Amino acid sequence: MKGKGEVRTRRSLAQHWLKSESALDNIVRAAECSKEDRVLEIGPGTGVLTRRILPLVQALISVEIDRDLCKMLVKEFGKRENFLLLQGDFLELDVESQLGNFEKFQNQNKVVANIPYNITGPIIEKLLGTIANPNVRPYESIVLLIQKEVAERIVAKPGSRTFGALTVRVQYLAKCEYICTVPASAFHPAPKVDSAVVRLIPRQLEKQANDPKYLETLVKLGFSAKRKMLRNNLQSVIERDELTAILERLNINPQARGEDISVVQWVELSNELKEKAKHNNNLEDELKDSDEIGILDEDED
Ligand code: SAH
Repeated sequence: MKGKGEVRTRRSLAQHWLKSESALDNIVRAAECSKEDRVLEIGPGTGVLTRRILPLVQALISVEIDRDLCKMLVKEFGKRENFLLLQGDFLELDVESQLGNFEKFQNQNKVVANIPYNITGPIIEKLLGTIANPNVRPYESIVLLIQKEVAERIVAKPGSRTFGALTVRVQYLAKCEYICTVPASAFHPAPKVDSAVVRLIPRQLEKQANDPKYLETLVKLGFSAKRKMLRNNLQSVIERDELTAILERLNINPQARGEDISVVQWVELSNELKEKAKHNNNLEDELKDSDEIGILDEDED
């Protein structure tokens, strides 16, 4: 797709150019950039965000998959000594290992990006890690422009319809804030959905899972059928009566559904059930058989 004087867009790469100045302002403000920051940007596209961040920070690394866009970006920013462009697929790239001699670009402390929405889950997982394998070098903050519906699931509070497995997986690893909504009309070409800016601050939750792998699997099971009570979704793991007793002990309504209990309560439940599992081999088998779990499972909706 290309009009007069425009950069063509590739739909397969989820290319939508952000044109709203106020949305760009909000992203940059949320990132609280300073001259000490070494920032990672994913999918700079035509460089609207790059242009804003560069003057504010010590170093900026942008990773862009599209070779033609990379040529444009090099033309505009190539001479800036605090800019480094990596061409490649962010999901495949080991950014740190590419930075051998470029010391000032190493150890980025922040991420700021308007990312390609088709790979939102894998990108967030690469940035945060998973419950069982958190990123060993967490960023100070991650500011992302993503699909609004995914943003709502990430920041959801217990009891809301948008609270799900994704909520637990992300909030276990980071404090999550909804910064602002960005309407589809803020992009060219306009995507089908509205967007939102979120800020993720990686931190350790006040309550840690004794067995993080176990928590991951439990969460997957707990949300396996939508809007079902925990005692139904966890039937394969534990007898209903036993679960009811545990839920009561944790001050959780025995009729609670997965979306009704907080992330901390999920951790408490996991720790209790894990304790129980020591005396129950079936549960261990169930967990062993489960697949690797990503941040945003495709089957979640
Ligand atoms: N940040 C720009 C562009 C956002 S569109 C803006 O706000 O206008 C998403 C961008 O991510 C596009 O430039 C696209 O080419 C790039 N992209 C898509 N998949 C990618 C991947 N796997 N790795 C790196 N960049 C990718």
